[in-house]
Order: sequence, then structure tokens, then C-alpha cells
Amino acid sequence: TGTQLQGKVALVTGASSGIGRATALALSEAGLRVAVGARRTDRLSALEDSAPGEVLSLPIDVTSYDSVAQAVSQVVERFGRLDALVSNAGVMLNGLILDADIRQWHRMVDTNLLGSMYAVHAALPHIIQAKGHIVQVSSTSGRIASLGSGVYSATKFGVSAFTESLRQEVTTQGVRVTLIEPGFVATELTTHITDENSRRMASEIAQSMRTLQAADIAEAVLYALRQPEHVSVNSILIRPTDQV
Ligand code: NDP
Repeated sequence: TGTQLQGKVALVTGASSGIGRATALALSEAGLRVAVGARRTDRLSALEDSAPGEVLSLPIDVTSYDSVAQAVSQVVERFGRLDALVSNAGVMLNGLILDADIRQWHRMVDTNLLGSMYAVHAALPHIIQAKGHIVQVSSTSGRIASLGSGVYSATKFGVSAFTESLRQEVTTQGVRVTLIEPGFVATELTTHITDENSRRMASEIAQSMRTLQAADIAEAVLYALRQPEHVSVNSILIRPTDQV
């Protein structure tokens, strides 16, 4: 029999849209109490209203360690425990290296890589205490780099490396660690790209195939969380069937 999820507590970062939102809803439907964090708190309030279970929305900017640590404290204060972290917040600002706006590189590294590391660091004592689960949202770009997404890829390769090291550190304490590596998912991620060529390329890719939906990734997260305690799903690589 699988892990009983009813009544457990999860924190999902980047839950105001896309994969994070879908995952928070799926976890709520599965009976977890869910804390959701992002910068756009109006969207979190809307999510609170549409989720079937208890949801706590928290303003989180993952680029600030204090913001993340404060949110984790609030989760534990409210629910008394933290069983699962879904570290999902991310930005993808594609473009060529030449003439790149370096501030966009900082945003990607600060959000995708350091932000994810901050969330893990702040949550880890509670996750260890609960013999809980850490789910890290990486990408196929964490395995294969491609033209125009060098920095994004670098952050996701970094997430993979950090996640494997984390796994080795905590697995014997009963903590499970899962890396999720999605291919193309239809979300607002690509709409934030400012480089016009890159944004057009992303939208052409989206038009050319049946993309994954955010709910497909939520299912993958739930699959990992539901496994019995002796089963640690270390990674899930999941692409649209149409994506080569
Ligand atoms: P979205 O743009 O829909 O969601 C990104 C989420 O991250 C939003 O909730 C956003 O909230 C949040 N976020 C961004 N910056 C910060 C920040 N500084 N602090 C807190 N939250 C932040 O895209 P996706 O759902 O697609 O992306 C979710 C994750 O999935 C990302 O890590 C992405 O790299 C990864 N991924 C996506 C794929 C895809 O094809 N869509 C493929 C593979 C991986 P807010 O702006 O309100 O703070």
C-alpha cells in the first residue's frame, strides 16, 4: 500500500500559475493541507478559493532567503509540520549569449537555482523530522542544452546536481527526493521571454505539437508522493509524445 497523503502538509513554490498551481490543486484534491507561495498573491487567493481542501497562501519571493525562511516558519506555525516541498518556482528568459541582458541571467540563477536551494535549506529540518519528501522541478533542459537557452539550462543542470547531492545526504534518514524533468508544458513560462526571436520560436514549438498540460506534471508529482515508504522515485523524465 502507498503512502497515506491525507492530512499531510505540502509547500509548493511558484504556485500562482502553471505547473505549481496545478500541483497545488492536485495535492489539495488528494487530501493534503497545502501552503502555496509566489509573488502574485492575488492569484494565490483565487487558488485558495478553488481548492477543495485547506490552503494557506504566502507571499514568497524565492530570490530572497529571508522570504523563503519566513514562509516555511509560517507553514509550520499554521500546520505544525511540513511533509513535502515542491520546489517549482522558475523563470525562462531565453536568448543568445551575445548581447544578452546580464540582469536576465541573474534573475534565472537567483530564481531557478539559488531560489530552489534556499527553499530546500529552509524546509529541510522539518522535512527530515517528518521523514518527508522533496520534489524538485527541473526540466529536459537540465539534461540537454540547446541554442538560446544556455543560462536556463545551466540553472537546471545545477538543480539536478544539487538534487542528487541532497538525495545522498538525506535518503538514509528516510527522506525521499524526486527530480521532475518535463519537456514542453503549456504554461505562461514562455510569455515572459523578452527576446522576440526566442519568444516566437517557443510559440512555434507550442503550435507544432500536442504539448503537455500542467495537470500532467501534477500527476507525476502525485505518483512520486504516493509510493510506499521504501520506494524513492528519484527522477521522472516526461515529454510530450510529439516532442523529439
Ligand atoms: P509559469 O510561468 O506558469 O510559473 C512559474 C511560477 O514561478 C509562477 O507561479 C511564478 O509566480 C513563480 N515565480 C517566478 N519567479 C518567482 C520568484 N522570484 N519567487 C517566487 N515565485 C516565483 O511556468 P511553469 O509552470 O511552466 O514553470 C514552473 C516550473 O516548471 C519552472 O521551474 C520551469 O522552469 C519548469 N518547467 C517548465 C516547463 C514548461 O515547458 N513550461 C518545462 C520544464 C520545466 P509569480 O510570478 O507570481 O512569483
